[in-house]
Amino acid sequence: MCGIFGITNSEKASESCYYGIHAMQHRGQESAGIISADSEMVYAHHGMGLVSEVFNNVNTLSQLKGDTAIAHNRYSTTGASSAVNIAPLLFKHKESFIAVAHNGNLVNLDKTIKKLENNGALFKTSTDTEIIVHLIVRAKEEAFPDKVSAALKQLEGAFSLLIMTRKMLIAARDSLGLRPMVMGKLGNSTLFASETCAFDLIGAEYIREVEPGEIIVIDRESGKLESFRFSPKTSPKHCIFEMVYFSRPDSRVFGDNVDRARRKLGKNLAIESDHDHAQLVLSVPDSSNTIAIGFARRSEVKFDIGLIRNHYVGRTFIAPLQSERDLKVHLKFNTVKGVLEGRNVILVDDSIVRGTTLKKLIKLIREAGVKEVHVRIASPPIRHPCFYGLDFPTHCELVTYERNLDDICRYIGADSLHYLSIDGLLNSMAEPKSHYCTACFTGDYPIPVTDKEKAQDNYINEI
Ligand code: SF4
Repeated sequence: MCGIFGITNSEKASESCYYGIHAMQHRGQESAGIISADSEMVYAHHGMGLVSEVFNNVNTLSQLKGDTAIAHNRYSTTGASSAVNIAPLLFKHKESFIAVAHNGNLVNLDKTIKKLENNGALFKTSTDTEIIVHLIVRAKEEAFPDKVSAALKQLEGAFSLLIMTRKMLIAARDSLGLRPMVMGKLGNSTLFASETCAFDLIGAEYIREVEPGEIIVIDRESGKLESFRFSPKTSPKHCIFEMVYFSRPDSRVFGDNVDRARRKLGKNLAIESDHDHAQLVLSVPDSSNTIAIGFARRSEVKFDIGLIRNHYVGRTFIAPLQSERDLKVHLKFNTVKGVLEGRNVILVDDSIVRGTTLKKLIKLIREAGVKEVHVRIASPPIRHPCFYGLDFPTHCELVTYERNLDDICRYIGADSLHYLSIDGLLNSMAEPKSHYCTACFTGDYPIPVTDKEKAQDNYINEI
């Protein structure tokens, strides 16, 4: 999963990018980069680490000159977490350059990669993003936007894309709209971002979603905007997990407020599950806060703060190594003993992936003196990996692997466990049920993945 941001016709293009990806730090913490351009030159700075670590020198941004810039923060789902894969990617091409920022994962690439390699393509990264650039430059069409369109027609999978050249800034989104992307305005500048929280920080106005299957081209000199489709309109399949966990609650994603959806998830969870003997509702902060508030309102059980999160430690879910994840759980949470002691509590969480974090949290809560811990999860059991850009582990790493509900309850150490039903999940969303991808819960993948991908759960050999 990644965050992308782009802006054109701006006197503060790189500065806006900096704030944009800073606001979307939750989407990827491994590396960050900004590429900017004026009419003559292209400028780039990137590195491993958080946005504030990569851009820790005030002079860096002033050296990223130009009216247009794109930016990226990365959490690797294809290709290793290494310096060579830091995005946006930049390529010299003829008299110009191509810079690309990509959020999402492409699938079924075997044939495309083989074909490109047989045609002499050399890859300098192990990301799927680079394949897009190879397809663009090899397209037979004359005009650059037509080349982009021809390339995107060949892709399968999830992609929200920003492409910058000497002449234009292009935004595009896969035909199912799996990953979010919004367009905004700030004075005469046009902006694009994965989430609207990136606009709020710089005072930009939300205009609309980049439509699934749409290509938006902005001429950097005239500011003229053109929009066309590279694929026919079809029913979208938005990643429902963006609404459950990934996006910030203060963002507008897929045309809906994430906060609204999370409160409704909590409400539906309270309707579906037992809460008779509970004295307190607790959330696993921060992504479950609004879900727990929705639960408490509906159940009329008091909400309280029993877990405190240390905000200076990254998200456990997106730390790529198991050992780091274990350590971070302890670094990240502490209990408020006065709130917990002697109580029967309902612990609300958005989802369970591996179960390791929740298991440790329940142990922490018990050590603080609670009598009973009843876990309520605002999504159904995750039983299948995600191939479209979220780091859901392979089948055997999921807590549901070879475990039924009772086994999972025992494994995490809870007194009871209830998951929200798939209907409860879908009824919490603003759009019709058919507009969401729920493959990690149901196994019903909107874009088929090959058996090889399913078997390996990873399809590009890492460098
Ligand atoms: S499989 Fe799950 S995480 Fe992946 S895109 Fe679909 S809903 Fe989102």
